[in-house]
Amino acid sequence: MNLARLKNDWEWLAERDALWAILTDASKASGKWDIAEFMATGEAEIEVVLSHLAKIGFSPDFDGTALDFGCGVGRLTQPLARRFHSCIGVDISRQMIEKAEALNQFVNCQYIVADSEPRLPFPDERFSFIYSNIVLQHVPPRFSEQYLREFVRVLAPKGVLVFGVQESFGTPDIASTITWARMVLRIRSRIRDILGSAQADMQMHCLPERTVRQALGVARVVNVQFTNTAAKDFNGELVYPDQAPESGFVSRQYCVVAREHVESAEKPKSAEEIESHNRAAAVSLFAIKKHDATHLHYDLRLEWNGVLKSWAIREGPSYCTHDKREAVQVEDHSREYAGFEGMIPEICPGAGTVMLWDVGTWEPQPGYFDVDAGLRDGLLRITIHGEKIKGNWTLMRKRGLAGTGRKPKWWLIKEPDGFERAPHEPSVVEEAPNSVKTGRTMEEIARDWVRGKGKNKAQMELS
Ligand code: MN
Repeated sequence: MNLARLKNDWEWLAERDALWAILTDASKASGKWDIAEFMATGEAEIEVVLSHLAKIGFSPDFDGTALDFGCGVGRLTQPLARRFHSCIGVDISRQMIEKAEALNQFVNCQYIVADSEPRLPFPDERFSFIYSNIVLQHVPPRFSEQYLREFVRVLAPKGVLVFGVQESFGTPDIASTITWARMVLRIRSRIRDILGSAQADMQMHCLPERTVRQALGVARVVNVQFTNTAAKDFNGELVYPDQAPESGFVSRQYCVVAREHVESAEKPKSAEEIESHNRAAAVSLFAIKKHDATHLHYDLRLEWNGVLKSWAIREGPSYCTHDKREAVQVEDHSREYAGFEGMIPEICPGAGTVMLWDVGTWEPQPGYFDVDAGLRDGLLRITIHGEKIKGNWTLMRKRGLAGTGRKPKWWLIKEPDGFERAPHEPSVVEEAPNSVKTGRTMEEIARDWVRGKGKNKAQMELS
């Protein structure tokens, strides 16, 4: 399977019924899409997406250039051209691009046929906004990964990238494999029913979150939403459901920014903005300190409401989903010491060597956005994006201990999401024992500190 095959499929689909191939509403097959109605779905979709971005505080720069990837006949390119200084639509199918050019109403809009290579014919940092929906689901994952890397490459420093993918919910299992096989068969038979033959496939592929995040590299995911685009009657009316469907495949939309954008993003101000910011699961600091005090332990820090919620974990985190690691909640810490690496003097509480063992960001999982309630009720379900600790984790307070004592005990448990490890696989604390920032061992940190080398650079800057 390669992109040339995909290109052929889409040339064939574009020739037979381009509009239906893009929005596969059964009632619109055989040329029944009204072109004005069809284009209006794009206008509405772009409005939903841009409103959503404004709400979470990541509006793109409209003075820049927008990219519509997988533009088809320009359903989304035209509304982008209306809003941005300029816009470029790219599609793998020449016939789609010819139809798009025929429908083009804007001088600031340009259409380009994509190569059979997963590369974008643009210089680095070209676009202030990149949008792609119901496209990557038709692209084999290894090419989607390359396109995602290309998106990050051509995204301007303050640019915003929004794309939709389909993914199975949780780990691939037999049930979802069967669902997938049925879906492929259903689509193939629909193509045959509607277009009279099935010489081409409308391939359907899933891209798990792990793959997406790895492909995005240094860019930051600021928001992930479920969407209704996997629904078989999706007709361009984009909706963000609160929950994933209970079974089958789900679509998700990722909002991604270049790293610089996150750092310069203004903090939201009103309660409503703060709420949506929280719900948006924007960047909150995650860190784990390795701390050799009375006992060696690991201190989990999660930034929340301006402080670091803190848990001490004797054994450290485990990627094995069967391991429950006791996490003793301790007093909130100040964010300013989050990056500290060095020695805490004898006279202070927690005297001993401190290592920055892991660092990154965290966000609540969809459906668990109310973190204050989670802290109160004793259940947090979070996604961590560290160097060593990644994926979905549950923090659950032990039953019967709510509010008793000064240091409530919780469990830290890995959730199955593709990052988990089997019991016989190496433990992450043994596999990666050293500082995530300096690579030093505990002994080296202590030695440097005593020699005075570590003191000045002990306060690491955290991005
Ligand atoms: Mn500690």
